[in-house]
Amino acid sequence: MTTSQLTVDRSLVWFRRDLRCFDHAALYAALKHSQAVYCVFIFDKSILQDLAPNDRRVWFIYESIKELAQALAKLGGKLIVRYGIAEEDIPALAAELNINAVFANHDYEPQAIRRDALVKQRLQSFDCAMYTRKDQVIFEKNEVLSLAGTPFSVFTPYKNAWLKKFYAEGSDFYSKPYPVDLYANRFAADLPAALTAIPSLAELGLNDAPESHMNVPTGMSGGAALLDDFLQRIQRYGQARDYPSVKGPSYLSVHLRFGTVSVRHLVREAMTCMRTAADLGGAQVWLAELIWRDFYFQILHHHPHVVERSFKKDYDAIQWEQGEQAKNLFAAWCEARTGYPLVDAAMTQLNQTGYMHNRLRMVAACFLIKDLGIDWRWGERYFAQHLNDFDLSANNGGWQWASSSGCDAQPYFRIFNPVTQSEKFDAEGKFIRRYLPQLGKLTNKQIHAPWLQSTDALRSAGLTLGKDYPLPVVEHDLARKATLARYAVVKKPDEKNAP
Ligand code: FAD
Repeated sequence: MTTSQLTVDRSLVWFRRDLRCFDHAALYAALKHSQAVYCVFIFDKSILQDLAPNDRRVWFIYESIKELAQALAKLGGKLIVRYGIAEEDIPALAAELNINAVFANHDYEPQAIRRDALVKQRLQSFDCAMYTRKDQVIFEKNEVLSLAGTPFSVFTPYKNAWLKKFYAEGSDFYSKPYPVDLYANRFAADLPAALTAIPSLAELGLNDAPESHMNVPTGMSGGAALLDDFLQRIQRYGQARDYPSVKGPSYLSVHLRFGTVSVRHLVREAMTCMRTAADLGGAQVWLAELIWRDFYFQILHHHPHVVERSFKKDYDAIQWEQGEQAKNLFAAWCEARTGYPLVDAAMTQLNQTGYMHNRLRMVAACFLIKDLGIDWRWGERYFAQHLNDFDLSANNGGWQWASSSGCDAQPYFRIFNPVTQSEKFDAEGKFIRRYLPQLGKLTNKQIHAPWLQSTDALRSAGLTLGKDYPLPVVEHDLARKATLARYAVVKKPDEKNAP
Protein backbone atom coordinates (compact mmCIF):
# COMPACT_ATOMS: atom_id res chain seq x y z
CA MET A 1 0.00 0.00 0.00
CA THR A 2 1.54 3.28 -1.05
CA THR A 3 -1.16 5.90 -0.89
CA SER A 4 -1.85 7.92 2.20
CA GLN A 5 -5.16 9.02 0.59
CA LEU A 6 -6.66 5.58 0.96
CA THR A 7 -10.12 5.44 2.49
CA VAL A 8 -11.92 2.21 3.15
CA ASP A 9 -15.41 1.70 4.49
CA ARG A 10 -15.09 -1.67 6.14
CA SER A 11 -11.82 -3.51 6.60
CA LEU A 12 -10.66 -6.77 8.07
CA VAL A 13 -7.30 -7.20 9.83
CA TRP A 14 -5.96 -10.72 9.44
CA PHE A 15 -3.60 -11.62 12.31
CA ARG A 16 -1.03 -14.33 11.55
CA ARG A 17 2.42 -14.22 13.17
CA ASP A 18 1.80 -10.82 14.78
CA LEU A 19 -0.32 -11.60 17.84
CA ARG A 20 -0.36 -8.19 19.47
CA CYS A 21 -2.46 -5.06 19.27
CA PHE A 22 0.20 -2.42 19.92
CA ASP A 23 2.77 -1.13 17.41
CA HIS A 24 1.20 -3.28 14.66
CA ALA A 25 1.68 -2.04 11.10
CA ALA A 26 -1.38 -3.65 9.47
CA LEU A 27 -3.75 -2.93 12.34
CA TYR A 28 -2.60 0.69 12.45
CA ALA A 29 -3.02 1.10 8.68
CA ALA A 30 -6.50 -0.45 8.75
CA LEU A 31 -7.66 1.76 11.63
CA LYS A 32 -6.18 4.90 10.13
CA HIS A 33 -7.76 4.42 6.72
CA SER A 34 -11.10 2.77 7.51
CA GLN A 35 -14.48 3.58 8.99
CA ALA A 36 -15.01 0.18 10.63
CA VAL A 37 -12.33 -2.41 11.38
CA TYR A 38 -12.91 -6.11 12.05
CA CYS A 39 -10.18 -8.49 13.25
CA VAL A 40 -9.70 -12.20 12.63
CA PHE A 41 -7.35 -15.05 13.46
CA ILE A 42 -7.63 -18.42 11.74
CA PHE A 43 -6.41 -21.62 13.37
CA ASP A 44 -5.43 -23.07 10.02
CA LYS A 45 -6.37 -26.72 9.53
CA SER A 46 -3.82 -27.13 6.76
CA ILE A 47 -1.04 -26.23 9.25
CA LEU A 48 -2.49 -27.94 12.32
CA GLN A 49 -3.03 -31.27 10.55
CA ASP A 50 0.74 -31.78 10.31
CA LEU A 51 1.39 -31.06 14.00
CA ALA A 52 1.14 -33.36 17.01
CA PRO A 53 -1.95 -32.76 19.22
CA ASN A 54 0.36 -31.67 22.05
CA ASP A 55 2.46 -29.27 19.98
CA ARG A 56 3.67 -26.57 22.40
CA ARG A 57 3.59 -23.84 19.77
CA VAL A 58 -0.14 -24.21 19.21
CA TRP A 59 -0.66 -23.96 22.95
CA PHE A 60 1.44 -20.77 22.95
CA ILE A 61 -0.64 -19.36 20.09
CA TYR A 62 -3.87 -20.38 21.83
CA GLU A 63 -2.94 -18.64 25.09
CA SER A 64 -1.69 -15.59 23.19
CA ILE A 65 -4.91 -15.39 21.17
CA LYS A 66 -6.97 -15.36 24.38
CA GLU A 67 -4.91 -12.40 25.60
CA LEU A 68 -5.11 -10.66 22.23
CA ALA A 69 -8.91 -10.99 22.21
CA GLN A 70 -9.10 -9.45 25.70
CA ALA A 71 -6.71 -6.63 24.80
CA LEU A 72 -8.64 -5.83 21.60
CA ALA A 73 -11.86 -5.78 23.64
CA LYS A 74 -10.30 -3.20 25.97
CA LEU A 75 -9.54 -1.03 22.94
CA GLY A 76 -13.14 -1.40 21.74
CA GLY A 77 -12.59 -4.15 19.15
CA LYS A 78 -13.45 -7.82 18.86
CA LEU A 79 -11.46 -10.76 17.56
CA ILE A 80 -13.13 -13.32 15.33
CA VAL A 81 -11.45 -16.70 15.81
CA ARG A 82 -12.05 -19.45 13.29
CA TYR A 83 -10.89 -23.00 12.79
CA GLY A 84 -10.64 -23.42 9.04
CA ILE A 85 -8.51 -22.98 5.98
CA ALA A 86 -7.26 -19.44 5.48
CA GLU A 87 -7.54 -19.46 1.68
CA GLU A 88 -11.24 -20.27 2.02
CA ASP A 89 -12.20 -18.62 5.31
CA ILE A 90 -10.70 -15.16 4.74
CA PRO A 91 -12.59 -14.57 1.45
CA ALA A 92 -15.75 -16.13 2.93
CA LEU A 93 -15.63 -13.93 6.02
CA ALA A 94 -14.82 -10.84 3.96
CA ALA A 95 -17.90 -11.52 1.81
CA GLU A 96 -20.07 -12.23 4.85
CA LEU A 97 -19.10 -8.93 6.53
CA ASN A 98 -19.15 -6.84 3.33
CA ILE A 99 -15.47 -6.01 3.73
CA ASN A 100 -13.80 -3.66 1.22
CA ALA A 101 -10.18 -4.37 2.15
CA VAL A 102 -8.21 -7.00 4.07
CA PHE A 103 -5.05 -5.82 5.85
CA ALA A 104 -2.19 -8.12 6.90
CA ASN A 105 1.53 -8.01 7.58
CA HIS A 106 4.12 -9.43 5.16
CA ASP A 107 5.10 -13.06 5.47
CA TYR A 108 8.29 -14.11 3.70
CA GLU A 109 7.95 -17.90 3.62
CA PRO A 110 7.30 -19.40 0.17
CA GLN A 111 4.18 -21.28 1.27
CA ALA A 112 2.71 -18.20 2.96
CA ILE A 113 3.45 -16.10 -0.12
CA ARG A 114 1.49 -18.60 -2.25
CA ARG A 115 -1.37 -18.58 0.27
CA ASP A 116 -1.53 -14.78 0.33
CA ALA A 117 -1.51 -14.58 -3.48
CA LEU A 118 -4.44 -16.98 -3.63
CA VAL A 119 -6.39 -15.09 -0.96
CA LYS A 120 -5.77 -11.80 -2.77
CA GLN A 121 -6.98 -13.28 -6.04
CA ARG A 122 -10.15 -14.64 -4.41
CA LEU A 123 -10.87 -11.31 -2.71
CA GLN A 124 -10.46 -9.48 -6.01
CA SER A 125 -13.25 -11.56 -7.51
CA PHE A 126 -15.73 -9.53 -5.41
CA ASP A 127 -13.80 -6.24 -5.47
CA CYS A 128 -12.24 -6.60 -2.09
CA ALA A 129 -8.65 -5.35 -1.90
CA MET A 130 -5.76 -6.82 0.08
CA TYR A 131 -3.07 -4.58 1.52
CA THR A 132 0.04 -5.91 3.24
CA ARG A 133 2.63 -4.07 5.32
CA LYS A 134 6.17 -4.66 6.56
CA ASP A 135 6.02 -5.41 10.26
CA GLN A 136 8.17 -8.26 11.54
CA VAL A 137 11.55 -6.87 10.45
CA ILE A 138 13.23 -3.48 10.34
CA PHE A 139 14.38 -3.89 6.73
CA GLU A 140 13.02 -6.35 4.20
CA LYS A 141 13.43 -7.55 0.63
CA ASN A 142 15.44 -4.95 -1.36
CA GLU A 143 15.70 -2.33 1.36
CA VAL A 144 19.34 -3.08 2.19
CA LEU A 145 21.43 -3.67 -0.93
CA SER A 146 25.11 -3.34 -1.80
CA LEU A 147 26.36 -0.22 -3.63
CA ALA A 148 26.07 -2.26 -6.83
CA GLY A 149 22.37 -2.76 -6.06
CA THR A 150 22.67 -6.49 -5.37
CA PRO A 151 21.55 -8.42 -2.30
CA PHE A 152 24.17 -9.16 0.34
CA SER A 153 25.17 -12.72 1.06
CA VAL A 154 27.78 -11.96 3.73
CA PHE A 155 26.60 -10.74 7.10
CA THR A 156 29.14 -8.08 8.16
CA PRO A 157 28.76 -5.81 5.10
CA TYR A 158 24.99 -6.35 5.34
CA LYS A 159 25.04 -5.27 8.99
CA ASN A 160 27.13 -2.20 8.16
CA ALA A 161 24.76 -1.20 5.37
CA TRP A 162 21.76 -1.94 7.65
CA LEU A 163 23.15 0.38 10.35
CA LYS A 164 24.06 3.07 7.83
CA LYS A 165 20.55 3.11 6.44
CA PHE A 166 19.01 2.97 9.89
CA TYR A 167 20.97 5.99 11.18
CA ALA A 168 20.73 7.97 7.95
CA GLU A 169 17.11 8.88 8.71
CA GLY A 170 17.69 9.51 12.41
CA SER A 171 17.65 6.69 14.91
CA ASP A 172 13.88 6.67 15.45
CA PHE A 173 12.65 6.73 11.85
CA TYR A 174 12.67 3.00 11.11
CA SER A 175 11.86 1.91 14.63
CA LYS A 176 9.07 4.33 15.48
CA PRO A 177 5.96 2.59 16.74
CA TYR A 178 2.58 2.45 15.01
CA PRO A 179 0.27 4.07 17.58
CA VAL A 180 -2.75 1.81 17.25
CA ASP A 181 -4.71 3.40 20.10
CA LEU A 182 -4.81 6.75 18.25
CA TYR A 183 -7.58 5.39 16.02
CA ALA A 184 -9.17 2.91 18.40
CA ASN A 185 -12.58 4.52 17.82
CA ARG A 186 -12.61 2.87 14.36
CA PHE A 187 -13.04 -0.67 15.67
CA ALA A 188 -16.32 -2.26 14.59
CA ALA A 189 -18.21 -3.45 17.62
CA ASP A 190 -21.38 -4.79 15.98
CA LEU A 191 -20.48 -8.47 16.03
CA PRO A 192 -22.67 -11.26 17.37
CA ALA A 193 -21.00 -13.09 20.29
CA ALA A 194 -21.11 -16.37 18.34
CA LEU A 195 -18.64 -14.98 15.81
CA THR A 196 -16.07 -14.09 18.44
CA ALA A 197 -16.23 -17.24 20.57
CA ILE A 198 -12.82 -18.90 20.78
CA PRO A 199 -13.00 -22.62 19.92
CA SER A 200 -11.85 -24.96 22.68
CA LEU A 201 -8.52 -26.80 22.37
CA ALA A 202 -10.48 -30.03 21.92
CA GLU A 203 -12.44 -28.49 19.03
CA LEU A 204 -9.09 -27.68 17.41
CA GLY A 205 -8.04 -31.32 17.75
CA LEU A 206 -5.47 -30.49 20.43
CA ASN A 207 -4.98 -31.61 23.98
CA ASP A 208 -4.19 -29.64 27.10
CA ALA A 209 -1.72 -32.15 28.56
CA PRO A 210 1.09 -30.67 30.69
CA GLU A 211 3.70 -31.68 28.08
CA SER A 212 1.94 -29.41 25.57
CA HIS A 213 2.54 -26.37 27.81
CA MET A 214 5.55 -24.20 27.14
CA ASN A 215 7.70 -23.09 30.02
CA VAL A 216 7.51 -19.51 28.74
CA PRO A 217 5.07 -16.74 29.67
CA THR A 218 2.70 -16.30 26.72
CA GLY A 219 1.12 -13.37 24.92
CA MET A 220 2.01 -9.68 24.93
CA SER A 221 2.29 -9.68 28.73
CA GLY A 222 4.71 -12.64 28.61
CA GLY A 223 6.87 -10.94 26.00
CA ALA A 224 6.93 -7.71 28.02
CA ALA A 225 7.90 -9.58 31.21
CA LEU A 226 10.77 -11.40 29.47
CA LEU A 227 11.99 -8.16 27.94
CA ASP A 228 11.92 -6.36 31.33
CA ASP A 229 13.92 -9.18 32.82
CA PHE A 230 16.45 -9.16 29.97
CA LEU A 231 16.94 -5.39 30.08
CA GLN A 232 18.33 -5.78 33.63
CA ARG A 233 21.16 -7.92 32.24
CA ILE A 234 21.54 -6.81 28.62
CA GLN A 235 24.87 -5.07 29.40
CA ARG A 236 26.45 -8.46 30.11
CA TYR A 237 24.90 -10.21 27.08
CA GLY A 238 28.18 -10.16 25.11
CA GLN A 239 30.00 -12.11 27.84
CA ALA A 240 27.16 -14.32 29.05
CA ARG A 241 25.41 -15.41 25.86
CA ASP A 242 27.75 -18.29 25.02
CA TYR A 243 27.37 -20.27 28.25
CA PRO A 244 24.29 -22.48 28.32
CA SER A 245 24.17 -22.79 32.13
CA VAL A 246 24.04 -19.01 32.51
CA LYS A 247 20.92 -16.86 32.08
CA GLY A 248 22.54 -14.90 29.26
CA PRO A 249 20.20 -14.55 26.25
CA SER A 250 16.79 -12.89 26.15
CA TYR A 251 14.65 -16.03 25.52
CA LEU A 252 12.47 -13.77 23.36
CA SER A 253 12.71 -15.85 20.17
CA VAL A 254 9.29 -17.48 20.51
CA HIS A 255 7.77 -14.03 21.05
CA LEU A 256 9.54 -12.71 17.97
CA ARG A 257 8.28 -15.76 16.08
CA PHE A 258 4.65 -15.10 16.93
CA GLY A 259 4.84 -11.31 17.08
CA THR A 260 3.79 -10.94 20.72
CA VAL A 261 6.68 -8.45 20.90
CA SER A 262 7.43 -5.75 18.33
CA VAL A 263 10.87 -5.86 16.75
CA ARG A 264 10.82 -2.05 16.50
CA HIS A 265 10.30 -1.85 20.26
CA LEU A 266 13.22 -4.25 20.86
CA VAL A 267 15.52 -2.25 18.60
CA ARG A 268 14.56 0.99 20.38
CA GLU A 269 15.32 -0.62 23.75
CA ALA A 270 18.70 -1.90 22.50
CA MET A 271 19.57 1.56 21.17
CA THR A 272 18.59 3.20 24.45
CA CYS A 273 20.85 0.78 26.36
CA MET A 274 23.71 1.42 23.93
CA ARG A 275 23.57 5.08 24.89
CA THR A 276 23.88 4.45 28.64
CA ALA A 277 27.22 4.50 30.41
CA ALA A 278 26.52 1.16 32.10
CA ASP A 279 26.48 -0.74 28.79
CA LEU A 280 29.41 -3.13 28.41
CA GLY A 281 28.77 -3.60 24.72
CA GLY A 282 26.01 -6.16 25.34
CA ALA A 283 23.23 -4.13 23.75
CA GLN A 284 25.27 -3.70 20.60
CA VAL A 285 25.97 -7.43 20.34
CA TRP A 286 22.28 -8.14 20.91
CA LEU A 287 21.25 -5.64 18.23
CA ALA A 288 23.54 -7.54 15.84
CA GLU A 289 21.52 -10.71 16.57
CA LEU A 290 18.33 -8.91 15.59
CA ILE A 291 20.10 -7.85 12.39
CA TRP A 292 21.03 -11.53 11.72
CA ARG A 293 17.30 -12.17 11.86
CA ASP A 294 16.61 -9.54 9.17
CA PHE A 295 19.58 -10.91 7.18
CA TYR A 296 18.14 -14.44 6.99
CA PHE A 297 14.68 -13.13 6.05
CA GLN A 298 16.20 -11.28 3.08
CA ILE A 299 18.23 -14.37 2.13
CA LEU A 300 14.99 -16.35 2.00
CA HIS A 301 13.37 -13.63 -0.08
CA HIS A 302 16.20 -13.45 -2.64
CA HIS A 303 17.15 -17.14 -2.62
CA PRO A 304 14.02 -19.20 -1.95
CA HIS A 305 15.86 -22.28 -3.28
CA VAL A 306 17.56 -22.58 0.15
CA VAL A 307 14.39 -24.24 1.45
CA GLU A 308 15.21 -27.29 -0.68
CA ARG A 309 18.87 -26.98 -1.62
CA SER A 310 22.21 -25.61 -0.49
CA PHE A 311 22.76 -21.88 -0.84
CA LYS A 312 26.11 -22.75 -2.48
CA LYS A 313 25.26 -24.97 -5.41
CA ASP A 314 28.39 -27.15 -5.34
CA TYR A 315 27.54 -28.35 -1.82
CA ASP A 316 24.64 -30.35 -3.25
CA ALA A 317 27.25 -32.79 -4.60
CA ILE A 318 28.12 -33.98 -1.08
CA GLN A 319 27.18 -37.61 -0.46
CA TRP A 320 25.60 -38.08 2.97
CA GLU A 321 25.35 -41.33 4.90
CA GLN A 322 22.34 -43.42 3.88
CA GLY A 323 20.57 -46.61 4.89
CA GLU A 324 20.00 -48.31 8.25
CA GLN A 325 23.26 -47.13 9.79
CA ALA A 326 22.40 -43.48 9.03
CA LYS A 327 18.87 -43.95 10.41
CA ASN A 328 20.25 -45.45 13.62
CA LEU A 329 22.76 -42.65 14.09
CA PHE A 330 20.08 -40.05 13.43
CA ALA A 331 17.78 -41.71 15.98
CA ALA A 332 20.61 -41.66 18.55
CA TRP A 333 21.05 -37.92 17.95
CA CYS A 334 17.31 -37.18 18.19
CA GLU A 335 16.95 -39.27 21.34
CA ALA A 336 20.05 -37.85 23.08
CA ARG A 337 21.96 -41.17 22.95
CA THR A 338 25.18 -40.17 21.15
CA GLY A 339 27.43 -40.71 24.17
CA TYR A 340 28.75 -37.12 23.88
CA PRO A 341 27.36 -35.40 27.00
CA LEU A 342 27.09 -31.83 25.71
CA VAL A 343 25.26 -32.97 22.56
CA ASP A 344 22.95 -35.25 24.55
CA ALA A 345 22.22 -32.56 27.15
CA ALA A 346 21.39 -30.13 24.33
CA MET A 347 19.04 -32.58 22.64
CA THR A 348 17.40 -33.34 25.99
CA GLN A 349 16.84 -29.63 26.53
CA LEU A 350 15.19 -29.42 23.12
CA ASN A 351 13.04 -32.51 23.64
CA GLN A 352 11.94 -31.52 27.14
CA THR A 353 11.39 -27.79 26.70
CA GLY A 354 11.32 -26.88 22.98
CA TYR A 355 14.22 -24.45 23.53
CA MET A 356 17.90 -24.94 22.79
CA HIS A 357 20.63 -22.46 23.63
CA ASN A 358 22.27 -20.88 20.57
CA ARG A 359 25.77 -22.25 21.30
CA LEU A 360 24.27 -25.73 21.62
CA ARG A 361 22.30 -25.39 18.37
CA MET A 362 25.67 -24.86 16.68
CA VAL A 363 27.31 -27.77 18.52
CA ALA A 364 24.41 -30.21 18.00
CA ALA A 365 24.00 -29.27 14.34
CA CYS A 366 27.73 -29.58 13.62
CA PHE A 367 27.82 -32.94 15.38
CA LEU A 368 24.97 -34.34 13.29
CA ILE A 369 26.48 -33.16 10.03
CA LYS A 370 30.21 -33.48 10.59
CA ASP A 371 30.50 -36.27 13.17
CA LEU A 372 27.63 -38.44 11.99
CA GLY A 373 27.71 -37.54 8.28
CA ILE A 374 23.95 -36.98 8.16
CA ASP A 375 22.31 -34.66 5.61
CA TRP A 376 21.72 -31.26 7.30
CA ARG A 377 18.12 -31.30 6.04
CA TRP A 378 17.29 -34.17 8.43
CA GLY A 379 18.41 -32.06 11.38
CA GLU A 380 16.71 -28.96 10.02
CA ARG A 381 13.43 -30.90 9.86
CA TYR A 382 13.82 -32.21 13.41
CA PHE A 383 14.47 -28.70 14.75
CA ALA A 384 11.48 -27.42 12.75
CA GLN A 385 9.28 -29.98 14.46
CA HIS A 386 10.56 -29.35 17.98
CA LEU A 387 11.77 -25.75 18.36
CA ASN A 388 9.27 -23.42 20.01
CA ASP A 389 10.80 -20.56 18.04
CA PHE A 390 11.05 -22.42 14.73
CA ASP A 391 11.35 -19.87 11.98
CA LEU A 392 12.07 -21.13 8.47
CA SER A 393 14.59 -18.40 7.60
CA ALA A 394 16.68 -18.52 10.82
CA ASN A 395 16.53 -22.31 11.10
CA ASN A 396 17.57 -22.85 7.50
CA GLY A 397 20.28 -20.20 7.91
CA GLY A 398 21.58 -21.90 11.07
CA TRP A 399 21.67 -25.36 9.49
CA GLN A 400 23.29 -24.15 6.29
CA TRP A 401 25.84 -22.27 8.40
CA ALA A 402 26.68 -25.48 10.29
CA SER A 403 26.93 -27.56 7.12
CA SER A 404 29.11 -24.86 5.50
CA SER A 405 26.72 -24.80 2.53
CA GLY A 406 25.14 -21.47 3.53
CA CYS A 407 25.62 -17.87 2.49
CA ASP A 408 28.02 -16.80 5.24
CA ALA A 409 28.86 -20.17 6.68
CA GLN A 410 31.80 -21.55 8.61
CA PRO A 411 34.41 -23.13 6.31
CA TYR A 412 33.81 -26.83 5.67
CA PHE A 413 37.06 -27.81 7.42
CA ARG A 414 35.98 -26.16 10.67
CA ILE A 415 34.68 -29.09 12.64
CA PHE A 416 33.70 -28.53 16.27
CA ASN A 417 35.22 -30.97 18.70
CA PRO A 418 32.27 -31.80 20.99
CA VAL A 419 34.55 -32.45 23.97
CA THR A 420 36.52 -29.21 23.70
CA GLN A 421 33.29 -27.27 23.14
CA SER A 422 31.98 -28.85 26.33
CA GLU A 423 35.12 -28.02 28.32
CA LYS A 424 35.03 -24.44 27.07
CA PHE A 425 31.35 -23.55 27.30
CA ASP A 426 30.20 -25.78 30.17
CA ALA A 427 33.48 -26.01 32.07
CA GLU A 428 31.88 -27.02 35.37
CA GLY A 429 29.40 -29.35 33.69
CA LYS A 430 26.46 -27.45 35.23
CA PHE A 431 24.36 -27.59 32.08
CA ILE A 432 25.16 -31.26 31.47
CA ARG A 433 24.22 -32.16 35.07
CA ARG A 434 20.88 -30.32 34.71
CA TYR A 435 19.80 -32.46 31.75
CA LEU A 436 21.79 -35.66 32.31
CA PRO A 437 21.60 -36.21 36.09
CA GLN A 438 23.00 -39.74 35.66
CA LEU A 439 26.39 -38.11 34.98
CA GLY A 440 26.06 -35.87 38.06
CA LYS A 441 28.73 -37.56 40.17
CA LEU A 442 31.52 -37.31 37.61
CA THR A 443 33.96 -34.51 38.42
CA ASN A 444 33.97 -31.26 36.44
CA LYS A 445 36.92 -32.60 34.45
CA GLN A 446 35.51 -36.08 33.80
CA ILE A 447 31.99 -35.13 32.80
CA HIS A 448 32.83 -34.04 29.24
CA ALA A 449 34.08 -37.47 28.09
CA PRO A 450 32.88 -40.31 30.36
CA TRP A 451 34.33 -43.04 28.08
CA LEU A 452 37.85 -41.78 28.73
CA GLN A 453 37.57 -42.30 32.49
CA SER A 454 39.03 -45.20 34.44
CA THR A 455 36.87 -48.06 35.69
CA ASP A 456 37.45 -46.83 39.24
CA ALA A 457 36.34 -43.29 38.40
CA LEU A 458 33.20 -44.58 36.71
CA ARG A 459 32.46 -46.90 39.63
CA SER A 460 32.76 -44.13 42.21
CA ALA A 461 30.43 -41.98 40.06
CA GLY A 462 27.92 -44.88 40.10
CA LEU A 463 28.05 -45.13 36.32
CA THR A 464 28.10 -48.16 34.02
CA LEU A 465 28.67 -47.09 30.44
CA GLY A 466 26.38 -48.82 27.97
CA LYS A 467 23.78 -49.15 30.76
CA ASP A 468 23.35 -45.79 32.55
CA TYR A 469 24.78 -43.77 29.71
CA PRO A 470 25.78 -44.78 26.15
CA LEU A 471 29.26 -45.25 24.79
CA PRO A 472 30.06 -42.78 21.97
CA VAL A 473 28.32 -43.74 18.72
CA VAL A 474 31.34 -42.52 16.71
CA GLU A 475 34.94 -41.66 17.42
CA HIS A 476 35.39 -37.95 16.79
CA ASP A 477 38.88 -38.13 15.22
CA LEU A 478 37.82 -40.78 12.71
CA ALA A 479 34.57 -38.95 11.96
CA ARG A 480 36.52 -35.77 11.33
CA LYS A 481 38.70 -37.50 8.74
CA ALA A 482 35.65 -39.02 7.05
CA THR A 483 34.02 -35.57 6.89
CA LEU A 484 37.05 -33.96 5.29
CA ALA A 485 36.98 -36.71 2.66
CA ARG A 486 33.21 -36.25 2.17
CA TYR A 487 33.65 -32.51 1.63
CA ALA A 488 36.50 -32.99 -0.87
CA VAL A 489 33.97 -32.41 -3.67
CA VAL A 490 33.70 -28.74 -2.67
CA LYS A 491 37.41 -28.13 -2.11
CA LYS A 492 38.62 -25.15 -4.14
CA PRO A 493 42.11 -25.21 -5.73
CA ASP A 494 43.23 -22.46 -3.32
CA GLU A 495 42.26 -24.66 -0.38
CA LYS A 496 44.80 -27.35 -1.30
CA ASN A 497 46.60 -26.80 1.97
CA ALA A 498 43.48 -26.78 4.12
CA PRO A 499 43.40 -29.73 6.53
P1 FAD B 1 19.01 -13.95 21.88
O1 FAD B 1 20.43 -14.32 21.98
O2 FAD B 1 18.42 -13.16 22.99
O3 FAD B 1 18.84 -13.17 20.49
C1 FAD B 1 17.77 -12.24 20.27
C2 FAD B 1 17.02 -12.59 19.01
O4 FAD B 1 17.84 -12.42 17.88
C3 FAD B 1 16.55 -14.03 18.96
O5 FAD B 1 15.35 -14.19 19.67
C4 FAD B 1 16.37 -14.22 17.45
O6 FAD B 1 15.15 -13.70 16.98
C5 FAD B 1 17.49 -13.37 16.87
N1 FAD B 1 18.65 -14.22 16.60
C6 FAD B 1 19.64 -14.57 17.45
N2 FAD B 1 20.56 -15.32 16.81
C7 FAD B 1 20.13 -15.45 15.55
C8 FAD B 1 20.64 -16.11 14.40
N3 FAD B 1 21.80 -16.78 14.41
N4 FAD B 1 19.92 -16.07 13.26
C9 FAD B 1 18.76 -15.38 13.20
N5 FAD B 1 18.22 -14.74 14.24
C10 FAD B 1 18.90 -14.77 15.40
N6 FAD B 1 16.43 -18.82 15.69
C11 FAD B 1 15.08 -18.74 15.57
O7 FAD B 1 14.49 -17.72 15.95
N7 FAD B 1 14.36 -19.77 15.02
C12 FAD B 1 14.96 -20.93 14.60
O8 FAD B 1 14.28 -21.83 14.08
C13 FAD B 1 16.38 -21.04 14.75
N8 FAD B 1 17.02 -22.20 14.39
C14 FAD B 1 18.38 -22.27 14.52
C15 FAD B 1 19.05 -23.43 14.10
C16 FAD B 1 20.43 -23.55 14.19
C17 FAD B 1 21.14 -24.80 13.72
C18 FAD B 1 21.18 -22.46 14.73
C19 FAD B 1 22.67 -22.57 14.84
C20 FAD B 1 20.53 -21.30 15.15
C21 FAD B 1 19.13 -21.19 15.05
N9 FAD B 1 18.45 -20.01 15.47
C22 FAD B 1 17.09 -19.94 15.32
C23 FAD B 1 19.19 -18.82 15.94
C24 FAD B 1 19.39 -18.72 17.48
O9 FAD B 1 19.92 -19.93 17.97
C25 FAD B 1 18.10 -18.39 18.24
O10 FAD B 1 17.48 -17.27 17.66
C26 FAD B 1 18.38 -18.06 19.70
O11 FAD B 1 19.04 -19.13 20.33
C27 FAD B 1 17.05 -17.79 20.41
O12 FAD B 1 17.25 -17.53 21.76
P2 FAD B 1 17.06 -16.07 22.35
O13 FAD B 1 15.77 -15.48 21.96
O14 FAD B 1 17.35 -16.17 23.82
O15 FAD B 1 18.20 -15.30 21.59
